[in-house]
Amino acid sequence: MNAEIIAVGSELLTPFRADTNSLYLTEQLNQLGVEVIFKSVVGDDLKQIAAATQHAIFRSEIVIFSGGLGPTEDDLTREAVAEALGVSLRRDAQVLAHIEQRFATRGWKMSPNNAKQADVIEGATVLPNANGTAAGQWISGRFDNRERTIILLPGPPHELKGLFECECRERLRAKLPPASIATRVLKIAMLGESAVDARVAPIYKRYGSVQTTILAGAGEIQLHFRSRAQTMEAAQARVDEAADAVEEELDDAVYSRNGESLEQIVGYWLQMRNATLAVAESCTGGLLAERISSVGGSSRYFVGGAVVYSNAMKTELAGVPASMIERHGAVSREVAAALAEGVRYRSEATLGLGITGVAGPTGGSAEKPVGLVFHALASDSGTEVIERNFPGDRQRIRWFASTLALDMVRRKLM
Ligand code: AMP
Ligand code: MG
Repeated sequence: MNAEIIAVGSELLTPFRADTNSLYLTEQLNQLGVEVIFKSVVGDDLKQIAAATQHAIFRSEIVIFSGGLGPTEDDLTREAVAEALGVSLRRDAQVLAHIEQRFATRGWKMSPNNAKQADVIEGATVLPNANGTAAGQWISGRFDNRERTIILLPGPPHELKGLFECECRERLRAKLPPASIATRVLKIAMLGESAVDARVAPIYKRYGSVQTTILAGAGEIQLHFRSRAQTMEAAQARVDEAADAVEEELDDAVYSRNGESLEQIVGYWLQMRNATLAVAESCTGGLLAERISSVGGSSRYFVGGAVVYSNAMKTELAGVPASMIERHGAVSREVAAALAEGVRYRSEATLGLGITGVAGPTGGSAEKPVGLVFHALASDSGTEVIERNFPGDRQRIRWFASTLALDMVRRKLM
């Protein structure tokens, strides 16, 4: 079955508030084997909410509303849905009593507006709200000759969650045919989106029942596979078949097959090989050390690092000869190698990483433009240096550089 979510609230159309309820609802619906095929955000406007409702019940079997169930003038979801369905509202005595009681036990005075929270759409089941005065509503029926389930939930996230868990999840499950959704994520470092797609599209297109999405981030591509079937085993088998075929094509470019981060994978390989790592970073300013040490237990393999921004510090802490910096410049193949070798030697780590580059926006030249970065990995078998010209702003260039350096360690140890 397919679902649709309508988030109601004018604040959600401003830059200051994001609709997070629909993310929670989508996760919950997916766990029930329901796909969300459409989402919208509507302001507190009766006509707009009613129009959105009509579109939604035309295309989606389950329609869930979030918000607009409060006591104020701008809380219009009840009225708008009733109008769109062509039914009336009735004031429910039991709901009203519940609201009155909530106010009484707290010693508060109930304002007349609150009574409108007891308005129930004709044919709806009231979903009691243990955390607030806005009751939810559940409507199952035929509209325009289509079988539909329409659910109204309050906007405050803890109320919406409480109501979904206590009142909706099992009710929905009872209505649904057996279905499960399986997912799988492959992560790829340091390849371009179009290069990855050109290689894998012919493969994943063969698996019609698996939905494949490519998500590109700085220095990382994620391939998301997703499939729905009657049982989780069947859905997982489909997803695995497609993901395995794609992984075979991409081979060692895939660094993670179960959602792990690059930092975690690097830590895994260092432990597998009983190896340790030290870093000397210039343009990344500690980002590399931060990423490596963000993994719990990294003290088992991460010795430490030096942020060597000035030439003097490169010499002082990583032993880069001043004459070498003089001759080749701080951003050079030679200095990158000397950083990696120097920090490895001084820390007695198995591997040493060195990074030097121009992160910009200033400091570039025709010979050494912004984005030019040298990455070096020193080990007992010698030193490897990779030179790259990264696009983007300072933050992206630094992120790319740290990602490439991490990936050098992974490839070395695999
Ligand atoms: P309402 O039920 O429309 O009175 O919403 C009450 C409050 O819940 C709002 O002021 C928001 O802080 C919050 N809220 C409403 N809709 C959402 C949403 N879609 N995602 C996250 N928070 C929301
Ligand atoms: Mg609102």
